[in-house]
This record gives sequence, structure tokens and C-alpha cells, in this order.
Amino acid sequence: MTNKSKFNNIAIIGLGLIGSSLALAIKKHKIAGSTTGYARSTKTRQIAKKIKLVSKVETTLEKAVKNADLVIICTPLSSYKKLFSSIKPHLKKSTIITDVGSAKTKVMADVKKIISEEFDFIPAHPIAGTEKSGPEAGFAELFINRWCIITPYKDSNKKNITIVKKFWEKIGSSVEIMSPEHHDRVLAITSHLPHLIAYNIVNTAADLETVTKSDVIKYSASGFRDFTRIASSDPTMWRDIFINNKEAVLEMIGRFSEDLSVLQKAVRWNDEDTLFKIFSGTRKIRKKIIAAGQDIDADDFGRSKKKLK
Ligand code: NAP
Repeated sequence: MTNKSKFNNIAIIGLGLIGSSLALAIKKHKIAGSTTGYARSTKTRQIAKKIKLVSKVETTLEKAVKNADLVIICTPLSSYKKLFSSIKPHLKKSTIITDVGSAKTKVMADVKKIISEEFDFIPAHPIAGTEKSGPEAGFAELFINRWCIITPYKDSNKKNITIVKKFWEKIGSSVEIMSPEHHDRVLAITSHLPHLIAYNIVNTAADLETVTKSDVIKYSASGFRDFTRIASSDPTMWRDIFINNKEAVLEMIGRFSEDLSVLQKAVRWNDEDTLFKIFSGTRKIRKKIIAAGQDIDADDFGRSKKKLK
């Protein structure tokens, strides 16, 4: 790093929605002397060059990381083992590695086995995104007024945690530091289970559609439309999240199923009191969520409309 806040070179591995948004945010806030981008496909590399996402687009991981003082992994979780093995021989000892992956505990254990104590991997997860993918989906404001959760290892270098924290703050995020296990449980209920429910309800409706012809699409009110938006999220990314956060997601599915049974019973037995009590309680939770984020003018996927001060 040239000084406390500027990196000489940041390498972004994977130029999809998150990688391209980071590239644009780094450029906008002048956080690095230069940026290097790696994408596996020719098509993505061509687009990245055309829209000038980074200072230089590289075709190999070796070239992409060799001069970097910060490497940010922005690829699906299933690519991590191969990717970390490939970049390891080409990293400088001082290079900080971070990521944006949506599940932590299992992935961190896998990565530790590969990089051991030699390199400092400081995992991070921006709670920001859209249902879109690819290099043209990115925008510099994606992380503004959104949380970024950093989940260090017990032995992570404190100075490097601070450097990664400041990086996210510079591009507009608020940072929370927590254990990977806690992160995975919180995200299982707030993000992973809602996506699983959306995938399932759209799938169920699609099956029904064979009976009702196009009625499901024709009469889909806003509730169902919202589910279809969430269920259009990238299949690779979400497959990887469920594979890598299995325990916490299974726990939340268990709790969800128990609560669903309570609702099922209440509907069956015309239990008006129970239905009213549950629906009133959830309404209060919604109010609390809005109140907690009242200064954030953003939609459900984190597209903030408020500019960085
Ligand atoms: P994306 O738009 O689909 O982009 C993924 C990128 O990774 C693409 O550049 C793709 O390359 C590359 N890639 C895919 N498989 C690869 C492999 N096996 N080896 C090397 N590169 C590979 O995905 P994204 O939404 O940016 O997500 C990236 C990461 O961010 C994921 O780990 C996800 O969990 C995390 N995340 C996503 C969101 C969200 O809402 N989207 C939010 C927070 C965190 P090509 O373009 O060349 O195919």
C-alpha cells in the first residue's frame, strides 16, 4: 500500500455483478493506483475491456495476482479450492486476500487447508446484490449504506482486518465483524431460507400451471411477482450457498416447518386468534426493520438511492 488508505494494485478475481461493482467503486473512490481483473471466459474479458472496468484485464491468475497488495475473490464458492491452489504460488507474502462469498464456515476451513499460515485471508461478505449477474450488471453505488460482514479467523492479523474494514467503509459500507458460524446462522434465516422459499414457491406454481394454464402468470399479484424476482437469482451462486451452509440452513428449515405447521393447523381449525396474533406480530417486526434502516433508501436487494456523503 502506498499510504494508509491507498493500495498500489488491487486484483479482482471474477468480474461478475460483485466483481464489476467493486471495480467501479474502487475507481470512483480512487482507492488503488491500478486495478487488475481476471475473468475465466473470453466474453467477460472482452466486455470488461470494452467498458473499462479495470486498468488491466489478465488472462491468467498468475499475471492477475502477482503485483497485487489486495486480492479480492469474487467467484462462486465452488471455485474456491481450485482458485486458491492456483493463486498461492504467485502471491507476495504481504498480499492480503479477501473475498465476497455468501457463506463462510465451511469455505474458510477449506481455504485454510490450502493457504495454511503463510497468507492472510480475511473473509468478507457484502450484504448487497441484485438478481442480475455478469460484468455489465455492476454499479459503483451497490455497497453504499449496506452492511459488509467480516469474519476473520481467530489468528487473523489485526492490522489486516483493519485494512479490509477501511476498504469497505471507503466504498460506502458499514462494517460488522463476527464469527463465521454466527454469520452463517444469521444469513441462513435472513437470506438463504427466503431464497429457498422463493425457489420452491415458484417451482410449485410452475407445476400447478400445467393445470391452470397461464393463470399463475396472468394473475400474479405483487407477492408472487416478488418471489419470481428472487427465484431468478443466479443458480450457480445459490446452489453453492446451500451446499456450503448446509447445517445452518437445515436448522432454519426445521424451525420454519414447525411454524408452518402451526399456521396450517390454525387455518384448518378456523383459529382466528392464532392467525391474527401471528400476523400482528410479524407486522411489528416489519415496522422495526423499517425503523432500523430509516436512513437507507434502498430496495430489498440493496440498491441504495442515497449518494455517499
Ligand atoms: P456472477 O455475476 O455470476 O459472476 C461470477 C464471476 O465468477 C464471473 O466473472 C465468472 O466468470 C466467474 N466464475 C464463475 N465460475 C468460475 C470458476 N469456476 N473459476 C473462475 N471464475 C469463475 O456472480 P456474483 O453475483 O458476482 O457473485 C460472486 C460472489 O459474490 C459469489 O461468491 C456470491 O456468493 C457473492 N455474493 C453475491 C451477491 C449477489 O447478490 N449476487 C451478494 C453478495 C455476495 P465468467 O463471467 O467468465 O463466466
